[in-house]
Amino acid sequence: MTENKKFSLNTICVQGGWQPKNGGPRQLPIYQSTTFKYDSSEQMARLFDLQENGYFYTRLSNPTNDAVAAKICQLEGGHAAILTSSGQAANLFAILNLCQAGDHFVCSNAIYGGTYNLFAVTLKKLGIELTFVPINATEAEISQAIRPNTKLVFAETVTNPTVEILDIEVFARAAHSNGIPLVVDNTFPTPINCRPIEWGADIVVHSTTKYLDGHAATVGGCVVDSGRFDWEAHADKFPGLTEPDPSYHGLAYTKAFGKDAFIVKATAQLMRDLGSIQSPQNAFLLNLGIETLHLRVQRHCENAQKVAEYLEQQPQVAWVNYAGLPSSKDYDLAKKYMPNGICGVVTFGLKGDRNDAIKFMDKLNLISIVTHVADSQSCILHPASHTHRQMDDEQLKEAGIRPDLMRLSVGIEDSNDILEDIANALK
Ligand SMILES: *Cc1c(COP(=O)(O)O)cnc(C)c1O
Repeated sequence: MTENKKFSLNTICVQGGWQPKNGGPRQLPIYQSTTFKYDSSEQMARLFDLQENGYFYTRLSNPTNDAVAAKICQLEGGHAAILTSSGQAANLFAILNLCQAGDHFVCSNAIYGGTYNLFAVTLKKLGIELTFVPINATEAEISQAIRPNTKLVFAETVTNPTVEILDIEVFARAAHSNGIPLVVDNTFPTPINCRPIEWGADIVVHSTTKYLDGHAATVGGCVVDSGRFDWEAHADKFPGLTEPDPSYHGLAYTKAFGKDAFIVKATAQLMRDLGSIQSPQNAFLLNLGIETLHLRVQRHCENAQKVAEYLEQQPQVAWVNYAGLPSSKDYDLAKKYMPNGICGVVTFGLKGDRNDAIKFMDKLNLISIVTHVADSQSCILHPASHTHRQMDDEQLKEAGIRPDLMRLSVGIEDSNDILEDIANALK
């Protein structure tokens, strides 16, 4: 696969990233090495000064990881990318690459529970504040939340766990008209179903732990930069990218690296200092997962559609939310941003109280109760008693999570077996 031809996403899933040389290994090698050898001390010095490209220590970068990051970057239509040790680390890096103590960002209120804790509790302790806006906020409402020290707008393209759909263009316009980038978490739809950069997003983050790996085998994350945001045009807001970095003898990332500035800074500064590198072994497994991403995502979506339609017809079911159902408030947004499918996650609630949800889950057999989501095996979770249990009822309500909400991650088993398991538990 030559790099300069434009291949379809299906082909990039299989062959993107690693390009073997003549006689080289066809499958991506695991560079299981902490360090890399050079012939001269001078060359090593140039690497340390970022004057030359190369590997020297796996805490910063590793060739296995970079091949997988390149594949995800191609899938997203981005300019450059890095893998991180987890989705949490990817979100942290996206924020810390743009914000420091005293800065502020604006965030959609419908986000993953782990991201909520990171942003609202831990980043706050570090002096970075945020304002939540509703996921269906208008451009004016988002703009109103933006202050002189606001450095970015953040949102999830399909929210976890509420599976709401973001109006990406509205958030992008609000960010850009205020001279700041839009960062989106595209974990649930994956680039197979949605490519946010085409709709105006500047930075895309992933928890690769979910569909990209797809087998519940490895925790990981990725940050993809579109290369499109003009940091220099808003240099006063982004001194970390545009002004000299004292830890590199006064090098300024935008001046030295142009469109690569964002990812070079994330690697050379944040990865160096915070050491959130993905292990090359995990990157190898992630790459194997992505080889079948296009096939799996299609089956996840077909099965989820069937499950959502089935649940909607059951008398014991109070409500179902899946943007593939015409009854969903997000049906039109999904048609626009992800016409080929959304994801395999469906949310619903049973008639009765919280305990009925727990009783139902305990009766399932094929569908297992796990914290995880978005892998090949069907699983279920009750956010109010599991992932979001740190939130009180008021915070849950603010994040749009009903106490009876169950998050069903529909796998790629035979849909008849999945439906039968649900039918048995409903009885
Ligand atoms: C799981 C998840 C995360 C966190 O990712 P980890 O890999 O578990 O650290 C972030 N965002 C979304 C949307 C997720 O689903």
